[in-house]
Amino acid sequence: MPVATSRKPTVSVARPAPEAVAQIAARLAAAIPQPRCELDHRDAWTLLMATILSAQSTDRTVNTVTPLLFQKWPSPQALAAAPRDEVEAVVHRTGFFRNKAKAIQGASLAIHQQYGGEVPRTMAELVGLPGVARKTANVVLGVAFGLTEGVVVDTHVMRVAQRLGLSAASQADKVEQDLCAQFPREQWNDTGHRLLLLGRYVCLAKGPRCADCPLSELCASRAEAPLGTWQQRAETVQQLVAPATPDTGPAAASG
Ligand code: SF4
Repeated sequence: MPVATSRKPTVSVARPAPEAVAQIAARLAAAIPQPRCELDHRDAWTLLMATILSAQSTDRTVNTVTPLLFQKWPSPQALAAAPRDEVEAVVHRTGFFRNKAKAIQGASLAIHQQYGGEVPRTMAELVGLPGVARKTANVVLGVAFGLTEGVVVDTHVMRVAQRLGLSAASQADKVEQDLCAQFPREQWNDTGHRLLLLGRYVCLAKGPRCADCPLSELCASRAEAPLGTWQQRAETVQQLVAPATPDTGPAAASG
């Protein structure tokens, strides 16, 4: 099925009915059955570091710097004690490198000193770490620990949620509240990561691929008619996202 592009859809649309929200969840699950983290990591600490570095950057870029970062400083204690200028040089290409170096070293120091080198497992403790807000905490809790505290909301999730009418808010915390209110708790982790991947590969900021979107009939922001059935479009999305969702690995992430 061809991949079409379209003009930018509108943002402010009506809230979908509960039945439509359930349909959105079902179609997202069919299109992205195994949402997976695209940030390379080996444990909760490396995922936390990578997620902090992913702000205002791409997962692909972050994945080019983390191998050297974790090779040079393989533990929270080692990274916390590293010379700041050396850390800045390693993370430089992710952007905002001074703030990010400060954040990953500050978080690592707190993890070493306050938590015995183990990443804490509660939202309250995680958001108390330098450079960690709810999005990062939700990624770590959901992907590394399989815990459900909220919905990951990044720029992709916010855009898709607005276009679908799931939220009219422009603040991540409010969008997260809106999504939590409409989806069952057991769907929070996967739904957030599915919306993120849909935004990254289909519901693009510029030129969303509405004709190929499995949510097209459910989306008031749709900018052009859908092609084929929603099931056919779900298969198209599976192929678009497939390189990022191999059979192994934990469920989804950010960027
Ligand atoms: S139809 Fe799909 S791609 Fe188009 S605006 Fe809606 S959610 Fe985004």
